[in-house]
Amino acid sequence: MAYEMTVGLEIHVELATKSKMFCSCKNLPAQAGDPVEPNINVCPICMAHPGTLPTINEEAIRQLIRVGLALNCEIPENSKFDRKSYFYPDLPKGYQISQYDMPICKDGGMKIGEHVIRLERIHMEEDAGTLKHEGNGTLVDYNRAGMPLMELVTKPDIRSSDQIAKFAKELQLILRYLGASDADIEKGQMRVEVNISLNMGTKVEVKNIGSISAAVKAAEYEYKRQVEAIEKGEKIIQETRGWDDEKEITVSQRVKEGSADYRYFPEPDLPPMRFTEKMVEEIRATLPELPQQRRDRFLRQYGLTESQIEIFTVTKEFGDFFEEVASELGEPRLYTLAANYIVTEQPSNINPENFAELIKKISRKELSSTAAKIVLDEMAVSGRDPDEIMKEKDLGQISDAGDLANDVDEVISANSKAVEDYKKGKVESLKFLVGKIMAATKGKANPEVIMDLLKQKLAS
Ligand code: ZN
Ligand code: MN
Repeated sequence: MAYEMTVGLEIHVELATKSKMFCSCKNLPAQAGDPVEPNINVCPICMAHPGTLPTINEEAIRQLIRVGLALNCEIPENSKFDRKSYFYPDLPKGYQISQYDMPICKDGGMKIGEHVIRLERIHMEEDAGTLKHEGNGTLVDYNRAGMPLMELVTKPDIRSSDQIAKFAKELQLILRYLGASDADIEKGQMRVEVNISLNMGTKVEVKNIGSISAAVKAAEYEYKRQVEAIEKGEKIIQETRGWDDEKEITVSQRVKEGSADYRYFPEPDLPPMRFTEKMVEEIRATLPELPQQRRDRFLRQYGLTESQIEIFTVTKEFGDFFEEVASELGEPRLYTLAANYIVTEQPSNINPENFAELIKKISRKELSSTAAKIVLDEMAVSGRDPDEIMKEKDLGQISDAGDLANDVDEVISANSKAVEDYKKGKVESLKFLVGKIMAATKGKANPEVIMDLLKQKLAS
């Protein structure tokens, strides 16, 4: 029997707003990476002291709607927050403010090639604190408690581990284009959970996944484990498993709780939300060009290769630089050459006008590729224009056959053995002669021009 992998993803992302979701405490992910003292970004509201009331962070809601629109979601007119009750020491309130039956974003999806991965929903909630286990005890840090957290749930439309990676990477890219989050998985800004079953059977949820590659490995491991279990006649139980990154296996953690266990009920301290069409359209107007739109446009406008376009989409600053260079170049036939140089040299600190000038010189064969590299390095350091550098370093390439004729004649008469060998059919000898002429011109001769000259002169 053939088993098909059925995967749905649950992805949590911390949104990069200025303040937390329901209070005015600073939202820390914007500064992730800095060592921050524990429990300094807390207040009576995010600590749920009696008598305090939460207020909704509108910036977070707008940002979530932008994410939803970028993923073609529907934004229902009415939405609300609910309490999800459970006890865990990282949750100061004893409940999490989340959304149950009226999420802010519904449906939508993402295309991976020709395959569509539909979304179930995207909703808004708050993050919990973090626990640090030390010796015999555990320390709690509430800096993260109450940070705006979006939760995205896909339908079980993913059919391979490769699609998991593609979906997660594209989502990351979209979030970064929107400025919604850096979505750095290692820093915990984006957390991926994999729900996996065979042929839509019993679902197993895998948590504690620390990278996209771990998500891929976890799905592949679970697929194998479930196939083996079924073939041994065992039943798959619905449970939550944790990914062990060192052993590269999943380990049973607990039998999955149903949503009834969380006693969801409407959050009494927050008003319901209403999004008019006008509001949604205003937010839609703030969307930037998205990764897929950029790919399509780069293909249409510049006719680059798929891999060049991918680099210019993923590393946006190179793509932006390319576009500036392209507008300086003016000539579409030079776009590919410029793209190649940007992809291989990854220029930084170079002004696009100078870079375009360099590309023109390379295309006119005024500069060999070796010399171009030297000029480029110098441009990055000093910011000077290529002409100046070429003059100072005496790097111009000699491409004029007339200017090279003398050198070619001299090398021919000084290497009669190689000349004879070539005439007898030894092709290698031609390369030897080219090398001699390159040496005589201190590497400045255009090798293609020499090659043609030699062939002409030796044919007679
Ligand atoms: Zn607070
Ligand atoms: Mn959640």
